[in-house]
Amino acid sequence: MESRKYAYLFAEGNSKMRELLGGKGANLAEMTDIGLPVPPGLTITTKACNSYYEEGRNFPQGMEEQLKEAIKDVEQKTGKEFGSQNNPLLLSVRSGSVVSMPGMMDTILNLGLTDETIKGLAQSTNDQRFAYDCYRRFIQMFSDVVMGVEHYQFESILEEYKMKREVKFDYELTADDLKELVEDYKVLVKRNTGRTFPQKPIEQLEMAIKAVFDSWNNHRARVYRKINNIPDHLGTAVNVQSMVFGNMGNDCGTGVAFTRNPSTGENLLYGEYLINAQGEDVVAGIRTPEPIASLEQDMPHVYQQFVDICNKLESHYRDMQDIEFTIEGGKLYMLQTRSGKRTAAAAVKIAYDMVDEGVITKEEAIMRIDPLQIDQLLHRRIDPEAKLTVIAKGLPASPGAASGKVIFDANKAEELGKAGEKVLLVRTETTPDDIHGIVIAQGILTSRGGMTSHAAVVARGMGKPCVCGCEAVKIDYKEKVLTIGDKVIKEGEMLSIDGSAGNVVDGNVPMIDPELSSEFLQILQWADEKRELNIRANADTPNDATKAREFGAEGIGLCRTEHMFMAQERLPIVQDMILAENQTERQEALDKLLPMQQDDFYGILKSMAGLPVTIRLLDPPLHEFLPSSEDLITEITKLKITESDLELLAEKEKLLKQVRVISEFNPMLGHRGCRLGVTFPEVYAMQARAILQAVADLRAEGVEVYPEIMIPLVIHREELKRLKQLVLDVAAQVEQERGITLTFTVGTMIEMPRACVTADEIAQEAQFFSFGTNDLTQTTFGFSRDDAEGKFLHHYVDQGIIENNPFAVLDRDGVGKLMKTAVKLGREAKPDLKMGICGEHGGDPSSIEFCQQLGLNYVSCSPFRIPIARLAAAQAAINNKDQ
Ligand code: PEP
Ligand code: MG
Repeated sequence: MESRKYAYLFAEGNSKMRELLGGKGANLAEMTDIGLPVPPGLTITTKACNSYYEEGRNFPQGMEEQLKEAIKDVEQKTGKEFGSQNNPLLLSVRSGSVVSMPGMMDTILNLGLTDETIKGLAQSTNDQRFAYDCYRRFIQMFSDVVMGVEHYQFESILEEYKMKREVKFDYELTADDLKELVEDYKVLVKRNTGRTFPQKPIEQLEMAIKAVFDSWNNHRARVYRKINNIPDHLGTAVNVQSMVFGNMGNDCGTGVAFTRNPSTGENLLYGEYLINAQGEDVVAGIRTPEPIASLEQDMPHVYQQFVDICNKLESHYRDMQDIEFTIEGGKLYMLQTRSGKRTAAAAVKIAYDMVDEGVITKEEAIMRIDPLQIDQLLHRRIDPEAKLTVIAKGLPASPGAASGKVIFDANKAEELGKAGEKVLLVRTETTPDDIHGIVIAQGILTSRGGMTSHAAVVARGMGKPCVCGCEAVKIDYKEKVLTIGDKVIKEGEMLSIDGSAGNVVDGNVPMIDPELSSEFLQILQWADEKRELNIRANADTPNDATKAREFGAEGIGLCRTEHMFMAQERLPIVQDMILAENQTERQEALDKLLPMQQDDFYGILKSMAGLPVTIRLLDPPLHEFLPSSEDLITEITKLKITESDLELLAEKEKLLKQVRVISEFNPMLGHRGCRLGVTFPEVYAMQARAILQAVADLRAEGVEVYPEIMIPLVIHREELKRLKQLVLDVAAQVEQERGITLTFTVGTMIEMPRACVTADEIAQEAQFFSFGTNDLTQTTFGFSRDDAEGKFLHHYVDQGIIENNPFAVLDRDGVGKLMKTAVKLGREAKPDLKMGICGEHGGDPSSIEFCQQLGLNYVSCSPFRIPIARLAAAQAAINNKDQ
């Protein structure tokens, strides 16, 4: 049987082969193709990784032969020989998945060094010290990543040597010291693993490839995939590349750069490098590196060549690039390029600028921005008016501000975070093993590392504020305190950071809401030109309505009137209404509520002048307005003991009795929504009157209003028919009293499965449908929305039974099917029936895409999500057009 092709030389691939070669491999191939200086190498495919797992963690047939053949080619191109005692070829082995997973997988450098080949390296470089330094680094890395000997054990031996020799830095150890050290390292490996350190280069290579394949399933890679929704089946490719050395002297170095600023988007080369350093030193954040601009002084030729290459790469890929490079003996080599991760602010600025520069189209700009990521721009920052005590300054690694309890350990951060505490993760530096703590923290503060350190990269991707390289912060993990000068902050105390300025601020700080940049507003306008869905807001107050309008809402899709009943001064009247023993008593309470409600509607309709406003009549079960029986019992017990106020005691006892009568086993499925309208028509009549009188007043003032009266929780055509009639009767009265004709519509929420499947009948009575997907999800799943998320839903998601929390991301297969039925039936009955969604899903990009596919007219979401919805709706329209 002919085997598949598992090994591709860089010269054989290109950037379109991501699936097979992984992102890094595909781009190394592309850079080779466009003639950039890339050290020769090859990529083992993601298919090989998948086959490796299918075959019980064995290489697929034919892979090893192909690998050896490819190595021959690399030998030829470099003029070096793998395993040679004279001029040995050394390799790096790196993982490279289809979707970039920064810092998640292990890398091995200097592979191919053995007791024999080390002589060749020393000879060919004429540098014993350098050669042995490479060897000791290799043994350390390889033994850690491949053979499972922990890093710190090597570090302790290294420390011992430094102490013995009375030196401070690694580079002060001599070649002879390192030679001896290498022997000690080998003994350590033998003692820990029971085997000698492998002395055959090809064996080392195969072990390393296996280790990369295995790292696809290590804990931190799995966590990262889960957080970022990266499918497990993709597998990783392995890139095997000839080594170039950034640590061979002061004409060498290594660095990382972005073609534009990944934090702000500014069109300026941005990055860092270290002279005389190897591989991961820059990203690992061990030494604090130099800004890229200094390279112009250090090595002007190399800098100019680097700038040219950056420009070439950016125009080739038509996107901001994240680049790794090494300089060996004054010669520049490119080790990686990929689309750079960026903050939301940078994403917006870069997309806008690139349209301006004529590089991409407006449509591409819209598609380049992740709607969920722009949530960052809608987040808070420190109030500029606030008096701050800045106690330290670090690097502004990821924008936004955060306050939280100082916590030094990722596990503890996770624990407290899950318990609802706001925590600030403070560490000397973070590693991929801290990822669970970073996810939950409000922000990250590190004392070491640069703008491209692990903490910085991960925080930016997640949109978390981060200050790093804040060297004034001294952390004592043992005593659980940090000190900044004389100031001592204990674990658990409050601290704030400003990731945009790099400031560390004492205590808690006041924050303010964000303003949108002009570039962002422009892109939103482009989005508005493309989208087909209207965007409305869920808002219950004139304030929220005004905010929503500022963000671009085109109406209110849901005004929940019950929130108006909760206000302190109204609650007693609402309670009187509920507990009224007869119609007269109830009417008295309603008469008091009427002007208040009328005022509310007046305010909201006015702030939304010219736009539609959907007002929903009372929805929740009545007990929500009453004290709980537990509280009442406690009060009664106290009153009985003190015998202080017998009248009050009698009143409370009566109230308890009434609360018990009203109480339901399952109030969410009980006496709520339009069922209240059926049993207490006078409540709905009061609300209808309040709305219509407000409309009449505004009309008299010349304000244009478009009220839509919405009946919740309908399950049957007959319910809607009667309640609509009730509204129409009130309208007729108001019209007569005011001598005007009112314009308004009456429609219904579609939020019960029965409503979906009888939508054709319900449509006969409705002028619009609004999908209440919160209740529809609850009733379709049979999950109580108040309990499921806190109690068991995460197990379903963790175990992969369902992909997402259905209360956050619309369940297309279940709830979605019911919606589809309702849309079809509804439109069959009334072809131009207006339909929208007002459940929480109205602000979720994936759900918005589904609403586009269903052909709804609008989505409605909370005011702060309006920009997200505008962008997501444009993307949905563009994607829909492509299909
Ligand atoms: C819904 O059920 O989706 C809805 C919008 O109504 P509420 O959340 O108020 O029940
Ligand atoms: Mg509902």
